[in-house]
Amino acid sequence: MSGSLYVSFNIDCEVSQPAVQDLPLGERAVRAFGDLLDENGHRATFHVLPSDVEAHANVYRELKDRGHEIGLHVHPATEGYEEFLGVYGAEQQATIVGDAGDRFSFALGFAPESICIGYASTNDFTYGVLYDLGYRHGTCSIPSRVLPECASVHAGAPLDLHYANRHNRLLLGDLDFVEIPITVDPDSRMWSGKHPQDLRVELVDAKNHWYTIHKSVKRQVEDGVPVKFLRAITHNTFDYSDRNDFRRQTLVGMMKHIQAIAEDLQLQIVPATGAQIAAAYRQAVPLDNTTSKLQLDRRGYG
Ligand SMILES: [Zn+2]
Repeated sequence: MSGSLYVSFNIDCEVSQPAVQDLPLGERAVRAFGDLLDENGHRATFHVLPSDVEAHANVYRELKDRGHEIGLHVHPATEGYEEFLGVYGAEQQATIVGDAGDRFSFALGFAPESICIGYASTNDFTYGVLYDLGYRHGTCSIPSRVLPECASVHAGAPLDLHYANRHNRLLLGDLDFVEIPITVDPDSRMWSGKHPQDLRVELVDAKNHWYTIHKSVKRQVEDGVPVKFLRAITHNTFDYSDRNDFRRQTLVGMMKHIQAIAEDLQLQIVPATGAQIAAAYRQAVPLDNTTSKLQLDRRGYG
C-alpha cells in the first residue's frame, strides 16, 4: 500500500423542511443509511437541521454512540429568514447560524462541531463567522459550481482539503477551520453547465460515479496531495431502507467502486467522519505553513 484514502459520507438531514415535511421518511432513511454504512465499515457525518434534531434526537444520539458524527445543517428559511445564507452580511449570518446551533445543542445535549451550509450558499464573510462561532471543520464548498441564483459560487475553489481563509472563500488561509469540499469532477458539467458532477449519490448512477471517484483519487495521487479523501453526499429525503430504491443501490455500488479503485491505486481506505479527516489534515499540514502570498504572474509581460 502506498498511502491512505480517507472516505467520508455526508448526509444532510432536512425532512422537517416546509417543502418536505415527512418525518417518518427521514427517520427511516437515517437509520437505514447508518446501518448500511456500519455493515460496510464506513463512517458518516450527519449534518442535521435543528428541527430534524428536535424530532429525532434519540436517533442521532444513537448514531453518535456508534461512531458517526452529528453536525449542524443550516437552511435559513427554516429559521424564518431568506432561503440562501450567502445573501447575508456577517452579522446576520452569525445570528442565523448561532441561533440554529443553540437549538441543536439544546435538543441533543452537545454542541455541533461540524457544519454544512444548505446549497453551499456562502460568501466571503462565511468562514470568519463559522470560525468565530467555534466551528473548526465542515463542508461549505462545491468546487467549480457557479450558481449565483442560490448565492452559491465556488468557481476556482480548492478541490482538496485546506484551511479556510477569513477574507476570501476561494483562497487557502490561516483559519483553523478545515474545509472538506464535496468531491467533484469539474470537467463534467450539469444543469446547463452551472454545476459539476459531484459525489451526490442521487445525482447519477454508480457507473457515472465510478468516473468521478477514479478521476479524483488518481489526481490526488499524481499531485501528491498530503491527505487524500473522498467526500460523498446525499439527503435523508430518499428511502434508504428500501432495498429496491435506486439511491440505495447507487450507494452500495459507490462503496464497491471506492474499494476497487483504492486497491488498484494501492491505497488503504480509512473510513472517517469529518472530524477524523480534519484531525488527519492538521497532523499532516501544520497551520502556519499553508498561507500562501499571492503574486502576480508576470511571465507574459516580456
Ligand atoms: Zn440542505
